[in-house]
Amino acid sequence: MLSKSKFLDALAIITEMFPEAHGELVWDTPFHLLVAVVLSAQTTDVGVNKATPALFAAYPEPRDLAQADIIDVENYIRTIGLYHTKAKNIVKLAQMLLSEFGGEIPRDKDAIQKLPGVGRKTANVVLAEAYGIPGIAVDTHVSRVSKRLGIVPESADVRDVEEKLRAFIPREDWISAHHHLIFFGRYHCLAKKPKCLDCPVFELCQYKEKTI
Ligand code: SF4
Repeated sequence: MLSKSKFLDALAIITEMFPEAHGELVWDTPFHLLVAVVLSAQTTDVGVNKATPALFAAYPEPRDLAQADIIDVENYIRTIGLYHTKAKNIVKLAQMLLSEFGGEIPRDKDAIQKLPGVGRKTANVVLAEAYGIPGIAVDTHVSRVSKRLGIVPESADVRDVEEKLRAFIPREDWISAHHHLIFFGRYHCLAKKPKCLDCPVFELCQYKEKTI
C-alpha cells in the first residue's frame, strides 16, 4: 500500500499536471447543479451539458419542475442514459424540495440524501460545488486512481475510498483534490488504456498491471 506521504507526493504531481481541474457540469443555480449531478449518473458530463440548457430554460425553479409532466421532462433528457428513471427522480426531487425544504437545497449531507436519486456522491458534489462545504465525492475515476496508486485495496468500496482520502488529504484541499483526481483519471490514468509510459507518478504507482 502507498503511504500517506507518498500519496501526497503523487497528488502534488497530479495537481501540477492539471492545475485548472474543475467541475465540468454547466449550471447556474444550486438547484440546477443538483439536477445536473442526478442526471450525470452513469453517463458523461458532456452528454448532460448538451441536454440541460433547454431543460433549465423550461424549468428554471423547483416549482416549475415540480409541476412538470414526466413525458415532457423525458423529451428534454432523452439523449441521457436511464432517462425514464431520471425524469421521475428529478420531478419528485423538485416536489420534495418544495414540500420538505422550502424550495431550498439543504446544506446538510444527511438531509440532501433524502431526495430521490441523491446518494453520497451527489451530496458531496453539490455541497462542495454550490456551497463550498468540504467533501470528497468518489466517482469511477477517483476510485480507480486511488486503487491503482495503491492507497486502498482493489476490493475497497466507495465508502472505503472516501474515508482513506479524507484521512490522507488536508480538509482544506478536499474539494480541489477531488477535481485533480477526476481529471487525472479522465484524461491520463484512463480505465482501459492508462498512459503509464508517460506518467509522472509511475515510480509511486502500485498498479500491478502498469505498462512499462
Ligand atoms: S503508472 Fe499507469 S496506472 Fe499508474 S497512475 Fe500512472 S497511468 Fe495510472
